[in-house]
Amino acid sequence: MNQELDGQVALVTGGSRGIGLGIANALSEGGARVAVIGRNGDRAREAARSLTGEGHEGFSCDVASVDEVTAVVSAVESQLGPVGILVNNAGITRDNILLRLKDEDWDEVMQVNLKGAFNMTRALTRGMMKRREGVILNISSVVGLMGNPGQSNYAASKAGLLGFTRSVARELASRNIRCNAIAPGYIETDMTGELDEKQTAALQERIPLGRLGTPDDIAGVARFLAGPAARYITGQVLAVDGGMVN
Ligand code: NAP
Repeated sequence: MNQELDGQVALVTGGSRGIGLGIANALSEGGARVAVIGRNGDRAREAARSLTGEGHEGFSCDVASVDEVTAVVSAVESQLGPVGILVNNAGITRDNILLRLKDEDWDEVMQVNLKGAFNMTRALTRGMMKRREGVILNISSVVGLMGNPGQSNYAASKAGLLGFTRSVARELASRNIRCNAIAPGYIETDMTGELDEKQTAALQERIPLGRLGTPDDIAGVARFLAGPAARYITGQVLAVDGGMVN
């Protein structure tokens, strides 16, 4: 059966676990061949093997490093072909209250969450521009819309990603390249795995749909935004958060 992403190559940063793995899986179910990127290459290769269909590959790369990004883009394109779908999903937290945040906590979060997305986008858009086709999807956070005590560095990086998304969308629309963002709410992954029962119950009370999200809740939306049904959508931020922000 024909799928809407047949023949496409997708690159998903942080595709080896959590939300990124969910997105990689949904794009593979849509027919795309997926390059899974993570710092841990073994885990990225294992994730690639777990996806639907054939032709997926895992690669080790720290998105914060321009040299590593340049090298991995060249490896991906020679092994899988030109990348038409980029998902900037890799992200980290280094939480603390403002007065206790160290310079390293600020810099590391910006380097991975914001500069990493810039590094990958810059490296891949030249090819997309030549082919006059491409989709970029940035995984932000509701925290980038609302703010959150103890996460000023993370919230700033995720809000920065929204300005980046809107600018890239305006800059590249004439080349038929779309750029959108998803702002997930609280999703059950390693990143949120440290919440205890009391914290989880308190969170659930703030979510109108009454539960934390799963990676699959985000993945279906990513597949939609990456595909032809979203061909007239660019520069948008879609909160996928059980109704927390509205
Ligand atoms: P996660 O479970 O901690 O997974 C993070 C992924 O990113 C892993 O695959 C990790 O692989 C990769 N990664 C981390 N640093 C990297 C780097 N420097 N270079 C390349 N890959 C890197 O996180 P998650 O919860 O799935 O979150 C995914 C994205 O969604 C993040 O951007 C996060 O901010 C955002 N988000 C999450 C939630 C939530 O509630 N979970 C809510 C809103 C937004 P390696 O460790 O092998 O590098």
